[in-house]
Amino acid sequence: MDKQTLSFQAEVKQILHLVTHSLYSNKEIFLRELISNASDACDKLRFEALADNLLYEDQPNLEVRVAFDKDAKTITITDNGIGLSAEEAVANLGTIAKSGTREFVAALEGDQKKDAQLIGQFGVGFYSGFIVADRMTVESRRAGLKPEEGVRWSSEGTGDFEVETITRPQRGTSVTLHLRDGEDEYLSAWKLKSVIGKYSDHISLPILMQKEEWDPEKKEQVAKDEWAPVNKAAALWTRSKSDITKEQYEEFYKQISYDSEAPLAYTHNRVEGRSEYTQLLYIPAKAPFDLWNRDKRGGVKLYVKRVFIMDDAEALMPVYLRFVKGVIDSSDLPLNVSRELLQESRDVKAIREGSTKRVLTMLEGLADNEDEAERAKYAAFWKDFGVVIKEGVGEDHQNKERLANLLRFASTHADEGVSFKDYAARMKEGQEAIYYITADSLAAAKNSPQLEIFRKKGIEVLLLSDRVDEWMLSHLYEFDGKSLQSVAKGAVDLGKLQDEAEKKQAEEAAETFKPVLERLKASLKDRAKDVRVTTRLVDSPACLVVEEGDVSGHLARLLKQAGQSAPASLPTLEVNAEHALVRRLEKSEQFDDLAQILFDQAMLAEGGQLEDPAAYVKRVNALLISKLD
Ligand code: ADP
Ligand code: MG
Repeated sequence: MDKQTLSFQAEVKQILHLVTHSLYSNKEIFLRELISNASDACDKLRFEALADNLLYEDQPNLEVRVAFDKDAKTITITDNGIGLSAEEAVANLGTIAKSGTREFVAALEGDQKKDAQLIGQFGVGFYSGFIVADRMTVESRRAGLKPEEGVRWSSEGTGDFEVETITRPQRGTSVTLHLRDGEDEYLSAWKLKSVIGKYSDHISLPILMQKEEWDPEKKEQVAKDEWAPVNKAAALWTRSKSDITKEQYEEFYKQISYDSEAPLAYTHNRVEGRSEYTQLLYIPAKAPFDLWNRDKRGGVKLYVKRVFIMDDAEALMPVYLRFVKGVIDSSDLPLNVSRELLQESRDVKAIREGSTKRVLTMLEGLADNEDEAERAKYAAFWKDFGVVIKEGVGEDHQNKERLANLLRFASTHADEGVSFKDYAARMKEGQEAIYYITADSLAAAKNSPQLEIFRKKGIEVLLLSDRVDEWMLSHLYEFDGKSLQSVAKGAVDLGKLQDEAEKKQAEEAAETFKPVLERLKASLKDRAKDVRVTTRLVDSPACLVVEEGDVSGHLARLLKQAGQSAPASLPTLEVNAEHALVRRLEKSEQFDDLAQILFDQAMLAEGGQLEDPAAYVKRVNALLISKLD
């Protein structure tokens, strides 16, 4: 191929502009990104060579070399990994594969430290070279191609790039940065080593630099033709726990997760037994921006005997733990394992179960910690990730009980942080069930008329207002032998909590009230399944309930929002026979209007929408006017 000048894809231009203009105070990350690409390229070679050993040519030892030239003001990062063909150079260095520019731009926060983590996450790390370079030259040959099939790619990082065919005997890639004026600090072995030590120590390949010796004539250190490793070159997780500092664990986390914050917790174990593997798993401190995306693959990388096999190996973690980051290195799986095979493998199943348990243990360790600071960490975790843990209750039946213990709620007793255990400890004498209410918002739950009798008797009710709550509750019926009972479903049953006198009073009220009930039923026959007297209300005249097994109004609204047709079951109207409004119904001349208003108000009180709001307003106004007259 003769020399060609090609234009960058528009997205790349935008990224280039952003990277060079927004990350200049965190320049040194360019080295991390380029070494990470070199390491990826070696991983890819190792993987492809599983099927074709000849790809190693005469260089079976994979490595990265970092060199600099003071006179030419260049830094060169060379690897003997998979390399690039000319087509790949054009495609991979001229366009962005994952079209994520918009997300990238949206995720940029203006905090350079945080933003610098993002560029790796969005697959645009290569372009970070232009933070310090005004020209980048890439020379490469793909493993398996002939020496004459090498490629040179070069660009000033603005509008376009050049490509041409070259002869390159050695396999792999050299990336040369022509440093901008003022970036001379990187032309020093000490500086480069310290940046490598900071970000790339855990890279499992040797990173080599030239040794230096003092040149008395030039009066400076000059490079010798002798290369020596500057990193430990042992993948972090293969090292013994006692040799790894907290800082090293945290730095490794930041590398694999692209998070700028330290993780909340981590666990590192060598598991022996039927299936042998090493796990290093992290729980992030903050939810990623795409936590809600259930299709997103997990953050756990799979290695087999130190060989990188795949990213995002979702078979290794249940969907609800998709926020967990880390590495699993198996000793048993075949090296040529595919995604399909992963789904079926018994070893993988064992790894998945073992890893799930580890993550839950980590969370329990925080949640039940004696130390208040650790418990505060759990509270923070719950704020960000509670909703996905709730998904787990329905998804992971094996660990349902453990997950139930991790749940935290708002209740009528505390605004947050109430566990089932806390609730159980506060249960009243004679109370058999755990009471809850679901609503569209916490405020709606809190002010729901259905709570009145519980408030009066001092019985705690859990207030649930997350979208997943209804779904979760369809999988969770009890905790520790106590059934979970909605206060908005079925007739109120306080069991032993209701005293005989109250029961009797209610029965009598129902009896004397019968004629009114019959009239109400007739007025509301198209809207209410039934109308009955209740003891659950104290201050409100009426409320809506659904029968046990029917879809609640709250769930019906959720389903409707999700575009599903909600099964139509009419609610039951319960009225408070003690309420002044209800007591006056019988003698009122506007009985029918009042009946409709009663129903509409009950609907509004539970956060529902009126089918005919105008009619409601009209009726209320008519009443107001008659009162004012
Ligand atoms: P990412 O590494 O997330 O894919 P980068 O912007 O860092 O994104 O790199 C873009 C692409 O350029 C890589 O996916 C790879 O195909 C190619 N590439 C970059 N550096 C190398 C290298 N040293 N050897 C082979 N390919 C490389
Ligand atoms: Mg990269």
